[in-house]
This record gives sequence, C-alpha cells and structure tokens, in this order.
Amino acid sequence: DHKDLNVPANPYGTDIESVLISEEKLKQRIAEMAKRVSEEFKDAEEDLILVCVLKGAFYFLADFSRMLDIPTQSEFMAVSSYGNSTSSSGVVRILKDLDKEIEGRDVLIVEDIIDSGLTLSWLMRNLKNRNPKSLNVITLLRKPERLTTNIDMFDIGFDIPNEFVVGYGLDFAERYRDLPYVGTLEPHVYSD
Ligand code: 5GP
Ligand code: MG
Ligand code: MG
Repeated sequence: DHKDLNVPANPYGTDIESVLISEEKLKQRIAEMAKRVSEEFKDAEEDLILVCVLKGAFYFLADFSRMLDIPTQSEFMAVSSYGNSTSSSGVVRILKDLDKEIEGRDVLIVEDIIDSGLTLSWLMRNLKNRNPKSLNVITLLRKPERLTTNIDMFDIGFDIPNEFVVGYGLDFAERYRDLPYVGTLEPHVYSD
C-alpha cells in the first residue's frame, strides 16, 4: 500500500491528501472476493443473505453483490457505536434492524472496515443469537495494527496502515463517501 499524491479532481477541493487504494485496485480485489464467496456458497439450497452494515458498506455491497454469480438477498442494518467520530467504544445500539429473520439461513456480513473490531464483535454475537445456518464476514478494509479482538474473517480486501481513511463509502462528518477510491485526508480537514 503506498500513497498516490496524484489525487483526481473531486468535489471536495483540496481535502483529499492521497489515494491509498485506486478505483481499479478496488474493483480487481472485490471481483476476487466475489469469486471466492460464489464458490463457497454455490451449492446452497437457499439464497445467501448479505447483511450490509450502513452506511459505510453500501458501495462495497453494491459492487460486490453484482459480481457474485449466486443468488443473494440484501439486508441492511444500521448500528451506532457510542464514541467520537473517529473511534468506537464497543457499546452498540441498533438504529435499523434486518427486515427478515435469518434463522436457518446462510448469512454473510459485508463490512466496510475493521478497526478495533468492537462493532463487529457485538454484531456477530447479536446475529448468532438468531440461529443462522452459517455466519461469515467479509470486510473491504482492515487495520491490523489496531485490532483488539480476534475475529475469524471469510475474506479481507486490504490490510491498511493505521490511518483514518475516507471514500468508497467511508466518511468524515458524513462527507467523502461518494469518492470512488479510498484516500487519506489533509490534516487541515480535522483541525478546522
Ligand atoms: P471498530 O468498531 O472496528 O473500531 O470501528 C468500525 C467503524 O468505525 C467502521 O464501520 C467505521 O464506521 C469507523 N471507522 C474505523 N476506522 C475508520 C477510518 O479509517 N475511516 C472512516 N471513515 N471510518 C472508520
Ligand atoms: Mg462498518
Ligand atoms: Mg463514519
């Protein structure tokens, strides 16, 4: 992973410092992940349920699900972890729950980024209590330096340095989600 300081023109002026993962690299890697998941669940009797954790994972879910060649159903969940805007506490509240029951179903949690892993650990416990047939997780990004809980992952898109990133669904104060790449922010954005 290296930072490309050649940032494409974007709606946020000079806020973006660098491109960490380009649009092309994201697409390539997500296709590989989709291939693995398709292979794993190709003989399943019922549709795989994709659980998208809002809001950060919605671009990932959109691209990933369209690259799968097995039938799936997308479900959305919104949780809020108490903490400040750049770190989480592990104390989680459900803002929007799944629309359907997952008992006896194959479930794949689609995550944007695992930082401390606290939010995900909580979510896995919560979903496991609903007795799915299987429960797996894929995440686009992971910060291995920061991981405080050990979670068994089906697949991880990219391991990234312990730095705050935005784009491809990830925000800072709700901005930058729409950037097609994963990038870092200029320090002035935080301090303003
Ligand atoms: P965790 O519970 O693993 O510490 O935090 C996970 C959540 O924190 C992510 O779903 C995301 O909302 C937020 N988060 C963690 N690291 C980053 C980051 O580098 N950039 C952004 N935009 N959000 C992050
Ligand atoms: Mg998330
Ligand atoms: Mg956020």
